[in-house]
Amino acid sequence: MNERHAGAPGQVKEVTSLANPLVKDIKALALKKFRDQQNAFMAEGLKLVIDALDLGWQIRTLVFAKAGRGNAAVEKVAARTVAAGGTVLEVSEKVLVAITRRDNPQMVVGVFSQKFLALKDIRADNGDVWVALDRVRDPGNLGTVIRTVDAVGARGVILVGDTTDPFSVETVRATMGSIFAVPVAKATTEAFLAWRGGFSGLVAGTHLKGAVDYRSVDFSRGPVLLMMGNEQQGLPESLAASCDRLLRIPQAGRADSLNLAVATGIMLFEIRRGALKLEPIP
Ligand code: SAM
Repeated sequence: MNERHAGAPGQVKEVTSLANPLVKDIKALALKKFRDQQNAFMAEGLKLVIDALDLGWQIRTLVFAKAGRGNAAVEKVAARTVAAGGTVLEVSEKVLVAITRRDNPQMVVGVFSQKFLALKDIRADNGDVWVALDRVRDPGNLGTVIRTVDAVGARGVILVGDTTDPFSVETVRATMGSIFAVPVAKATTEAFLAWRGGFSGLVAGTHLKGAVDYRSVDFSRGPVLLMMGNEQQGLPESLAASCDRLLRIPQAGRADSLNLAVATGIMLFEIRRGALKLEPIP
């Protein structure tokens, strides 16, 4: 075993053993129970970790492969981690494979503190778009929605009811880094409905029985709250009844419905149509 243990946080440790307690703690983050216990989650990739630090997320541990030693960008991130009071682990390929459960892992992994936005702190001004997801189940869908919310410049996501974890490895991967840019709130259906009562803008639900074509609505006045239904069941009656409009995306062909993330993307690009302009490619 080739381990250099240092007591205080902020020192680099070289780890090659899967039995190392720090490695065990990070591996445990694959399970929601331990993510909740530690209030932490894992993100893979150097760029993601740099973005997260730039956006003010609290890093607890930086893990990098031996191959990263001497890499200027990795060393800079390691220095930032130490400065933030975090721990830096230089690990063997075997340890990195075990932590990420991937055969070809990224060279860098960061462990960050979780962060949720409180519903009461959401301020919706003119032009703001928020997305409420009712009981979203699929981590890929949630990650894709968070990424799309980021891409269109919407303000954030509200998870309503019992949902998949935004900080799971699968969701974080699917966000492609947008987990660090998009505020996420979570609420019970009751708390959400109480908050919705104070929402001053248009509350647009999407529903397979919606009577209104989504392209016929003027989204340009005031803030918009877009409400999307659960993958299997769609919006329940209580949430559907709280919407100002129930919109439908017309379909042809044999598919009953669109995938949740695809439907959210279509809606978001329509709602943000006037705000999105092609920038010249530098
Ligand atoms: N069997 C479910 C149902 O009856 O609603 C299908 C749910 S669909 C996979 C997931 C969500 O995507 C829906 O609740 C709705 O919010 C949105 N959605 C999908 N296709 C849609 C469409 N054509 N028009 C409006 N919303 C749609």
